[in-house]
Amino acid sequence: MDNNNKFDRLLAEAVLFHGHLCAGQIIGVRIAMLGLRELGITDPKGEDRKKLIVFVEIDRCATDAIMTVTGCRVGRRNMKLIDHGKMAATFVNIETMQAVRIVSVADAREKAARMYPDLDKSAAQMKAYREMADSDLFVVQDVTVSLKPEDLPGPPLGKEICVECGETVLDRREIRLAGKVLCQRCAGQDHYFEPLAALRPPLDVRLSG
Ligand SMILES: [Zn+2]
Ligand SMILES: [Zn+2]
Repeated sequence: MDNNNKFDRLLAEAVLFHGHLCAGQIIGVRIAMLGLRELGITDPKGEDRKKLIVFVEIDRCATDAIMTVTGCRVGRRNMKLIDHGKMAATFVNIETMQAVRIVSVADAREKAARMYPDLDKSAAQMKAYREMADSDLFVVQDVTVSLKPEDLPGPPLGKEICVECGETVLDRREIRLAGKVLCQRCAGQDHYFEPLAALRPPLDVRLSG
């Protein structure tokens, strides 16, 4: 299969999963194809499926395309979302620990607009991002990534109960403070919610019977 056919097939899969065709699907498919090529991984969803972990640095459209092309999923622990708001992703071969970070160049949008001045922004991007060479769209950084055993796929490592809230913490995500085991929230680290009331039973709906 030539590269164009392969791109079109992967893009169609990405659009089906993501729900629409957008510039992010095109960029995402291309980032993923490039990352796999750099690592020499040819069958990420088949015989190479245990070799790959991807770190994605943004939670936008392209992330869905990177998921469909690589087969990596958050729930399989082979996709890590590190939200730095950057169109960038790092592909790691965990057999060799070779890792490459692919970054979208800062002026990709401007280049697209210059290529197709008569089209609207999004149409220009979609057309240009298909046609531009990888070297006009991306830069590559050889990197090293530290992955702890508790970050890898497989059964959970460690299971602790937070002494403050009583909730269970898997995979060594607990914090030990003065000999106490705490979850990250109770340890005062970054958190995303504030409780409005005490814990309560769920709204009761019968699923059967
Ligand atoms: Zn989209
Ligand atoms: Zn806690």
